[in-house]
Amino acid sequence: MSITLPAIDPAIVARRDCVIEALRGIVADGVLTDPVSLKAYECDGFSAYRQLPLVVVLPETTEQVAAVLKYCSAEGVKVVPRGAGTSLSGGALPLGDAVLLGMARFNRILSVDYEAGIAVVQPGVTNLAVTRAVEGRDFYYAPDPSSQIACSIGGNVAENSGGVHCLKYGLTTNNVLGVECVLMNGDVLRFGGETLEPPGLDLLGVVVGSEGLLGVVTEVTVRLLRKPPATKAMLIGFKSVEDAGQCVADVIAAGIIPAGMEMMDAPAIRAAEEFVHAGYPLDVAALLIVEVDGPLAECDHLIEEITALAERRGCATLRVSRSEEERLRFWAGRKAAFPAVGRIAADYICMDGTIPRRRLPEVLRRMAELSLKHRLDVANVFHAGDGNLHPLILYDAAESDQLARAEEFGNDILRVCVEVGGVLTGEHGVGIEKRDLMPVMFSELDLAQQERLKCAFDPGHLLNPGKVFPQLHRCAELGRVHVHRGALPHPDLPRL
Ligand SMILES: Cc1cc2nc3c(=O)[nH]c(=O)nc-3n(C[C@H](O)[C@H](O)[C@H](O)COP(=O)(O)OP(=O)(O)OC[C@H]3O[C@@H](n4cnc5c(N)ncnc54)[C@H](O)[C@@H]3O)c2cc1C
Repeated sequence: MSITLPAIDPAIVARRDCVIEALRGIVADGVLTDPVSLKAYECDGFSAYRQLPLVVVLPETTEQVAAVLKYCSAEGVKVVPRGAGTSLSGGALPLGDAVLLGMARFNRILSVDYEAGIAVVQPGVTNLAVTRAVEGRDFYYAPDPSSQIACSIGGNVAENSGGVHCLKYGLTTNNVLGVECVLMNGDVLRFGGETLEPPGLDLLGVVVGSEGLLGVVTEVTVRLLRKPPATKAMLIGFKSVEDAGQCVADVIAAGIIPAGMEMMDAPAIRAAEEFVHAGYPLDVAALLIVEVDGPLAECDHLIEEITALAERRGCATLRVSRSEEERLRFWAGRKAAFPAVGRIAADYICMDGTIPRRRLPEVLRRMAELSLKHRLDVANVFHAGDGNLHPLILYDAAESDQLARAEEFGNDILRVCVEVGGVLTGEHGVGIEKRDLMPVMFSELDLAQQERLKCAFDPGHLLNPGKVFPQLHRCAELGRVHVHRGALPHPDLPRL
């Protein structure tokens, strides 16, 4: 285990009974304190790291959230917001001296305006529930993380989540118009609204993707889209991963933006096929799932163009869905790829990095070399059209050094992503997982500027501390940071 969590403050733990009593005064029926109940919250989807929270509180109203945060702020108690706990970067990992603020009871769709194409929802509503609520009127909510059956809209906002259809329709940030947000001091603010272009600084853009560090989101206004008249998916198999990667680059270079363009390598194809029987070919090294949507004539035209490009790259198999049922079957394997890989390995870490699309073949080659170097297998699932990689590093936590090797392998992959001009994360956030790699991408000055923003929202660094930033600065010192010849300012301050 190479990631250090902030040290637990014994003075806060000693005051646990007082904290519990105060929280019960705010949310009488929503405070969990016994070890069995707390166990359910000990980790998120980054399950290699676990810690019981000090206490769990489950508010139901914005006023309760504000009162909890105001109390914790006054008492110097840390708070970790949590949606459904599916984060893969440890964003919702609890801390032993922090209140875990669970948002699961904020589970109502407040209003839908079909004419304006917007819905106002509470943050605990699951991603899929939004589409389910409006699909009867031929509308849907476009961002579709593979975890959409479970993950919450609040978590999606905090992580700026994506999904297979974000290539054409954008990430969460492109589909959220406004939020209500409670700051650590209890102030309730609204950022954005129902229009596309709100006035003033884009604080909505700052809050989306802020990983629970700036405020707690208590209401979200989302864009709804009309379902396209036709949708078709293609399954295209290649004998080499490089050819599949080149085909992705060719499609984009031809000016085509498919609704989704996903790629799986042989281990991922095999695992998914054995799990959901999607009809994937097992004799190929890589599989592309390409979806096109729009008027039927446009879909057919794009399919012709993509077919020509794939054949020019020497594809081994190519099928086009002939019914809605078949299209959904093509996707079923991809959507179940993570749990499918979970069946073939004792444990896995799901990495998340983004690269310029044209570097895909090179990065895949280097990943294969790293797999040999670290002596661990890797199964690859990508949002290939976005250049967003999801290598799943397979390991066995019961074997003494395998977790450490898996973490080092993952770090090496992310270093390669940055080296080729990419970024540390695509959609899973930084959390604790990539926190210590932030200096690979950002200078000390960059990080200090980001922390100053954090200080403007949460000067006491009480909201979700220990995540995203590799060092814990105190806001007062941060204001005076001057970096001279790259020397670390305030070397005397405690680091994580
Ligand atoms: C099988 C699987 C597949 C996945 N596939 C995808 C995918 O395709 N695309 C993708 O982007 N992600 C994916 N994820 C990751 C994860 O589902 C997303 O990051 C999701 O948005 C997290 O939502 P959550 O409700 O579970 O949030 P949590 O895990 O509970 O929290 C995530 C972060 O959000 C913060 N947070 C939660 N609620 C609030 C709130 N109301 N206000 C402020 N901060 C809050 C937390 O503090 C934490 O930092 C996948 C995860 C799994 C397990």
